[in-house]
Amino acid sequence: MPLVADPPPFASFEELEREALACQRCPLAAGRTQVVFGVGDPAADLVFVGEGPGEQEDLQGIPFVGRAGQLLTRLIEGIGFTRDDVYIANVVKCRPPGNRDPLPAEIDACRPYLDAQLAFLDPKIVVTLGNFATKLLLETKEGITKLRGREFPFRDGALLIPALHPSAVLRNGGAALAQARADFVLVKRVLARARAS
Ligand code: URA
Repeated sequence: MPLVADPPPFASFEELEREALACQRCPLAAGRTQVVFGVGDPAADLVFVGEGPGEQEDLQGIPFVGRAGQLLTRLIEGIGFTRDDVYIANVVKCRPPGNRDPLPAEIDACRPYLDAQLAFLDPKIVVTLGNFATKLLLETKEGITKLRGREFPFRDGALLIPALHPSAVLRNGGAALAQARADFVLVKRVLARARAS
């Protein structure tokens, strides 16, 4: 199990967001339109972590608003929540050029923001969307197809559930959509159990 996170190196969630919005820690800063910090309810029990902003996210400053984002919204609504009920963030807060994968150095540079975000949010469930968030937060080299649809102990008594990334679902179609729906049904069930305990 990943170790309990260090206390956040930011005095408040607001200070964390302010610092992230002005970040120059890696070369992605030079190419971004906006930092995409995260959206949703800071008191949410359920936090989703994606990979990084795409074109629409970079333009609007909001995570998951492009095609993959619309699918994520539908999956969230499919288990009875809205985007306002949850919190949505990414591993890297600035768009990698041409939507390439984030580089290890970019992920390392951005990690303090995600770690602090999760420490302040202190959710009951973290859902990692796809390989990047899953490998980073579970500290594993195992791929998403092996890990999805299961629950893992996470920091501070939370649980982590890896789920297929909506972009992968859009690429792979039918069976992948059924798997993503099943991942979200598990999220709903585990959250209900965590809330009851
Ligand atoms: N894909 C992600 O991983 N994050 C976004 O914000 C949008 C698409």
